Amino acid sequence: MNINRNLLGKIVLQGLLKCETGMHIGASKENIEIGAIDSPVVRDPVTREPYIPGSSLKGKLRALLEKALSSSEANLLNKRNIGTPKNPVEIHVCNNQSEAFKCKLCRIFGSTSGRGEGNDNFPSRLIVRDLYLTNESVERLSDIDTGLLYTEWKFENAIDRVTSAANPRQIERVPRGAEFGFEIIYNVEETTQIKDDLKNIRLALDLLQLDALGGHGSRGYGKVSLKFEKIEAMTVDYLKNKTTGQYASVNSFDEFEQLIKIFNGKTL
Ligand SMILES: [Zn+2]
Repeated sequence: MNINRNLLGKIVLQGLLKCETGMHIGASKENIEIGAIDSPVVRDPVTREPYIPGSSLKGKLRALLEKALSSSEANLLNKRNIGTPKNPVEIHVCNNQSEAFKCKLCRIFGSTSGRGEGNDNFPSRLIVRDLYLTNESVERLSDIDTGLLYTEWKFENAIDRVTSAANPRQIERVPRGAEFGFEIIYNVEETTQIKDDLKNIRLALDLLQLDALGGHGSRGYGKVSLKFEKIEAMTVDYLKNKTTGQYASVNSFDEFEQLIKIFNGKTL
């Protein structure tokens, strides 16, 4: 199957992600000195500020959408183990481009060929940038006095039910109220699928706010809210020539159909 992967335009979502509760997105402990916190957060190596890797947000959105669509989309029940035989991680991934093109999940988030044949990969239509703290949040968090840079630590204790032995540990969190700027870009490739794709991206973003980002979500961590500041769409013609191309912007996701209009009339 020859799939058209021409780029017709871009839809750009920008805004703020706010931590409504403390958030923990963990980093590797490899470079952490002895005596440091048990479970540190991921930080920018240059500024040392905590950040949210785009891959963490994208992975969460994909997982939420996979669950939400599984009852209506039978193909999502085909799972692949992306973990190891001992530690299986079963997720849905289409095995080739023609499957992925029809799949409501993989055509947004991408798929890799099951047999390691790179030419049957379906690259993601969605780009999720790394999220950095806003300048206001950096300023506000600089003032907190926790002994950690921009973060807090939370003491957690698990008690062995039989021996009553305690297993105390400290988990580092980005404090409640911290705000990160987000930018999510959807590549418009197929006009007949824009509406469905945007609806599903929106569903995933809605579900995120009713779920949790990062670790320990079932214990109160990682409640986030999203505030859109700019939603805009532009055709490739617009990017080439601002006077002849098409551009549209809206303030709310409710009006996203306004954005789709500029891509109509284009033949594939
Ligand atoms: Zn798929």
